[in-house]
Amino acid sequence: MEIRVAKFGGTSLADSVQIAKVKDIIFSDPSRRYVVPSAPGKSEKYQIKVTDLLYALEDAIEKGEDYTESYDLIYSRFTDIKRDLDLKVDIESELEEVLKNLLDGAGADYAASRGEYLNGLLLADYLGYEFIDAAEVVFFDKRGKYDEKKTEKVLSERLAATERAVIPGFYGSMPNGAIKTFSRGGSDITGAIVAAAARADLYENWTDVSGFYMADPRIVKNAKKVKTVTYRELRELSYMGASVLHEDSIFPVYKYAIPINVRNTNEPSAAGTMITPTIEDYDGPPVTGIAGKKNFTIISIEKNGMNAELGFGRRVLACIEKYGIPFEHMPSSIDSLCVVLEDAKAKDNINDIVDDIHRTCEPDSVEIVRDLALIATVGKRMRSSIGCAATLFGAIAKANINVRMIDQGSSEMNIIIGVKNEDFERTMVAIHDAFANEF
Ligand code: ASP
Repeated sequence: MEIRVAKFGGTSLADSVQIAKVKDIIFSDPSRRYVVPSAPGKSEKYQIKVTDLLYALEDAIEKGEDYTESYDLIYSRFTDIKRDLDLKVDIESELEEVLKNLLDGAGADYAASRGEYLNGLLLADYLGYEFIDAAEVVFFDKRGKYDEKKTEKVLSERLAATERAVIPGFYGSMPNGAIKTFSRGGSDITGAIVAAAARADLYENWTDVSGFYMADPRIVKNAKKVKTVTYRELRELSYMGASVLHEDSIFPVYKYAIPINVRNTNEPSAAGTMITPTIEDYDGPPVTGIAGKKNFTIISIEKNGMNAELGFGRRVLACIEKYGIPFEHMPSSIDSLCVVLEDAKAKDNINDIVDDIHRTCEPDSVEIVRDLALIATVGKRMRSSIGCAATLFGAIAKANINVRMIDQGSSEMNIIIGVKNEDFERTMVAIHDAFANEF
């Protein structure tokens, strides 16, 4: 029988009304055997995510401040769900245990993980599924790095012996038994890990949008929906700021080529977006998505004959590495080279970096351009479609926007441009409209 792993995000499980929708979705398809919940998130009634309340609770306890407000809010979120759904699980004792452990110094990761843990207990009771504590099946090594080998072994054996289960997202355990979480939004990663261990046919990621849009719909009104996107395209887009899935949730499923389907709990009839290893039978535009971020600095270096000078690029990068700053991009031509850095990371050291470059590289000139936005236009099909660059730059020229930098990623499925921060939104709209309407 087909196996699906269904991960539900915080808004999908924010309260009893949402959880009832989740049950309908799960029960409408018997292949949804493994369910990975987030902690209750925001809703109209609740303005704060339970995870944030848990961090606040731990912080107050650590500082010796009054923690009762955070604790009471957390307590009522879970006990309200229990009451509304008429559940049996003794969530009150579990909550008391959490508080006791926090007062004993269990720490921030333990605190944050309890949102998923407690929600998992409620959901398992509601569905009649077995509850598997993620601490028993998801592992980190002693340095806190995810232990893929151990997790895959233990989790796949456990799932093979379990017909239907709820496995809470976001956390696992270290060799000494301490709880450790992934980075924020990490339940997406757990979902992918469970899908890989179950060798699932599909990893469903249920959220509050009906899939992925060609551009952020808050910036581009009427942004076109994307039916299919490849893993690699999604990684490029997430890296540049598109935020539908945690960017690390691709790795576990990549290995087994398990497709991910992003779907909307509030609109379960919509097909959502498929994230797949490759795209077949594709007839959409050559551009899959456009994503971008503001606040970058470019260091633009010119020197005649730079390309013939051995070690020039290395010496430039060494000047930046010295200050522990990673670079984002490095477009170059015969006599010039640009290094793109994040404003926030570069701002304290920029003058020292420029001095160092002058000293060690003896360039003809070094120019700094600040307050730039980077926009990536991503599409696997761009490589084989004629006229993409013309459409892209034609649209930007028509909108009267000055391009400060161009970098075609070596993957040839990504063209990155730099524009002034203030032109960011206009540029996104211009590129989106050109590809969404012209192809
Ligand atoms: N609850 C965690 C967070 O808010 C993890 C997740 O929802 O994926 O970041």
